[in-house]
Amino acid sequence: MNYHSHLKCRECSRRYPIEPMAACEECWAPLEVVYDYDRLRAEISRDAIAHRPPTMWRYHELLPLTGEPYVGTSTGFTPLALAPRLARALGAREVYLKNDAVNFPTLSFKDRVVAVALSKAREFGFDTVGCSSTGNLANAVAAQAARGGFKTFIFVPADLEPEKIIGTEIYGATLVQINGNYDQVNRLCSEIAQKYSWGIVNVNLRSYYSEGSKTFGYEVAEQLGWRLPQNIVVPMAGGSLITKINKAFHELRQLGWVEPHGTKFFGAQATGCSPITTAAKKGIAEIEPQKPRTIVKSLAIGNPADGYYAVKTILGSGGAGEDASDEEVVEGIRLLAETEGIFAETAGGVAVAVARKLIEQRRLNPDESIVLAITGNGMKTLGAVSGALRDAHRSAAIRPKLAEFEENYLGLASARA
Ligand SMILES: *Cc1c(COP(=O)(O)O)cnc(C)c1O
Ligand SMILES: [Zn+2]
Repeated sequence: MNYHSHLKCRECSRRYPIEPMAACEECWAPLEVVYDYDRLRAEISRDAIAHRPPTMWRYHELLPLTGEPYVGTSTGFTPLALAPRLARALGAREVYLKNDAVNFPTLSFKDRVVAVALSKAREFGFDTVGCSSTGNLANAVAAQAARGGFKTFIFVPADLEPEKIIGTEIYGATLVQINGNYDQVNRLCSEIAQKYSWGIVNVNLRSYYSEGSKTFGYEVAEQLGWRLPQNIVVPMAGGSLITKINKAFHELRQLGWVEPHGTKFFGAQATGCSPITTAAKKGIAEIEPQKPRTIVKSLAIGNPADGYYAVKTILGSGGAGEDASDEEVVEGIRLLAETEGIFAETAGGVAVAVARKLIEQRRLNPDESIVLAITGNGMKTLGAVSGALRDAHRSAAIRPKLAEFEENYLGLASARA
């Protein structure tokens, strides 16, 4: 049963049929999937959803597929956990971690968007798919395309982390490494999508891809007992995830499934690539593109496609944008690991570091509920933290002698020497 009817331009409201296109032909604004919320409200209930399997597809009526999902059938419904030890370290009362570091199958939130995009690619009849990526999207497309039997071309900047390169090639995808930054990679990818009839998940399938991000928001609300958090901190690359969590919360209010109070959105970026938070700090939605220079490669998009809407989401909610230096990001990764036992990638370090700064600045209210979006896994960005740990915890190897252990680790001079 289908509740989505057509695509609609975000700016001029022109309608388009459900087809592989992502931008309005009149004004080039993004196209949004439109649903029949009246019929949804009448026919679907929260209780019905609560009895479904724990995957992102429990919200399938709010996703733009005509049939059953084709790939990513186990994706989503990741843990939302209270984080009391991190909260104490941040000086806050009620902090939750939404942990997509353990999302299936490739350990980042990108599995959500790819599950929708490639299932839609199948419905459209594409046999070849691809993406331009800063790493996690490459992993997710490669893995799920292998499962779906697609031919796959993946375009990435050549300076990606080795874990993300290997974690793409292993699935047999054709990996095209390009000497250039993400924005140059993306431009080439758009040309290719136009010339060949391929389903590029973040180009001509972008309107469907981005709907997958909404499930992150639905899950947060359901896992809080059908409540919206008072605050949420979201790392931003192209600015799609934060925009779509906002759409998800808005839809839940419209369906009457949550109380109609708002959530303040806080967007987080690395200082070395912060076009969206820079605009948010100035209070304007116009984005000035940057050349990325940061260890946070997953968020290194200098000219973010949804930056304009991300700033509007942030400012319209009464939230704020803030960025963190590479050193603060590494500190954030360590703090999260040492307090809550969760090893996040650099984007997770950005979320923690930015939350800490915003609380210190009292722009994020430590007495209210705060959700941190942990969007990727630390095993994929080992190089970012290995240098910081070498001195901190590790001393040279010892011989297998009790006395040597006691001397080196307990500070006891050996009695039996
Ligand atoms: C892509 C990505 C984001 C942000 O995604 P956008 O929707 O492009 O803003 C956040 N965290 C991680 C780990 C990502 O890979
Ligand atoms: Zn338009």
